[in-house]
Amino acid sequence: MKPLLSVGEAKRLLLDSFSPVKIERVALTQCTGRILAEDVFSGVDLPLFDNSSMDGYAIRAEDVTTATPGNPITLKVIADVPAGQVSSVCLDPGQAIRIMTGAPLPEGANAVVPIEDTDSNQGEGQPDIAVPDQIKVFKSIKQGDYIRPRAQDVKNGELVLLGRSRLRPQDVGLLAMLGIPEVPVYQRPRVALLSTGDELLPVDVPLKPGKIHDSNAYTLSALICRDGGETIDLGIAPDREQAVREILERAVSSRSDLLLSSAGVSVGAFDFVRKVIEQEGGLEFWRVNMKPGKPLAFGRYKGVPFIGLPGNPVSAFIGYEIFVQPVIMKMIGLTDLQRTTVRVRLLENIDSDGRESYLRAIASFRKGVWFAQLTGHQGSGNLRSLVQANALLIIPSGVKSLPAESELDAWLLGDIQKDAFDEKSEKR
Ligand code: AMP
Ligand code: MG
Repeated sequence: MKPLLSVGEAKRLLLDSFSPVKIERVALTQCTGRILAEDVFSGVDLPLFDNSSMDGYAIRAEDVTTATPGNPITLKVIADVPAGQVSSVCLDPGQAIRIMTGAPLPEGANAVVPIEDTDSNQGEGQPDIAVPDQIKVFKSIKQGDYIRPRAQDVKNGELVLLGRSRLRPQDVGLLAMLGIPEVPVYQRPRVALLSTGDELLPVDVPLKPGKIHDSNAYTLSALICRDGGETIDLGIAPDREQAVREILERAVSSRSDLLLSSAGVSVGAFDFVRKVIEQEGGLEFWRVNMKPGKPLAFGRYKGVPFIGLPGNPVSAFIGYEIFVQPVIMKMIGLTDLQRTTVRVRLLENIDSDGRESYLRAIASFRKGVWFAQLTGHQGSGNLRSLVQANALLIIPSGVKSLPAESELDAWLLGDIQKDAFDEKSEKR
């Protein structure tokens, strides 16, 4: 029997077997959440030209240095520049040009006076307000006021987005501002997903005695989607060798980057996935020093990397989070991704069996301290206790008991509030 691996060792062994997937070019409308494959440099200045930040009048600041409400300065209005147009006239002393937000600053102007600081009719929502012949300016304005100068935000040639980062909506907007219609991103890793077991039925098939719904397929496919992968649904493999073989062939023909299964790889009499993969390429079966989910299978089926997660729904989820998520991150070009980890203070005593353990808990932040308590029975088939959790407490290996008030690390999973749950269950 092989020695127990630590979680860290198993993760390193796994990661060493994967490399980033290919790169493809995608349109901006399709790239949010994808991983940018290359650095992006700007080919333009942003703003592209000096422009007005207010609706008002382009002026020469020196014309209005003495302007006050009691002693306004009158300027002659010689033109109008709406947004999207360029003024062909040049501003001379004593003159103003009406300008709208975003319109290019006319030649000769060096400041904008907002409409509110003039006697000009503000229009108040009425379109096509006529340009007045002259305006009174009530306030002195400094050179550069209300002007957004060219290149204030981005200079031509500057590095604006780092390769190997996940594109967020604001990044996509900036790419559009730069006039870049498509970007190179890592392909979505194709994960062929397989559930195994004669007891499993799809969620839309009514149950019969002894059967349960396949939930791992849905949990795992949701995780794959969350992490930027694409699921190829291989369905449920019954506990028969030939059926398992046929399904695994589909993972090969569908050009999968990873074959992911749950259940069927332990030592049960019907664990055929293990047998078939052993025959077709090789399987390493690791016992990882962790709880839940000690058994973890890794191998290749006809060249396609294979990871076998445990069958119990909580073990499958935690196994994915620990081992598969980093693999997908590596495939899409992200390496040093850190999980959101906080130091929590226990609200109860916890016993452990010396394995590195991941316990479902509710973490709450009160007066600057994170507190944590477990969510119900920690059996690895009890998915509701994971649904109620917003954190996984990590009990280090070698630790057998932790008294209340002990501090330990926890991964944050989401934003469920314990109080909200308590309140609702009391009402029912
Ligand atoms: P096994 O690894 O096949 O011994 O399965 C361990 C436990 O997980 C058993 O109770 C199975 O019924 C359950 N299980 C296996 N696969 C799934 C699945 N896809 N969805 C829900 N439960 C499962
Ligand atoms: Mg089974």
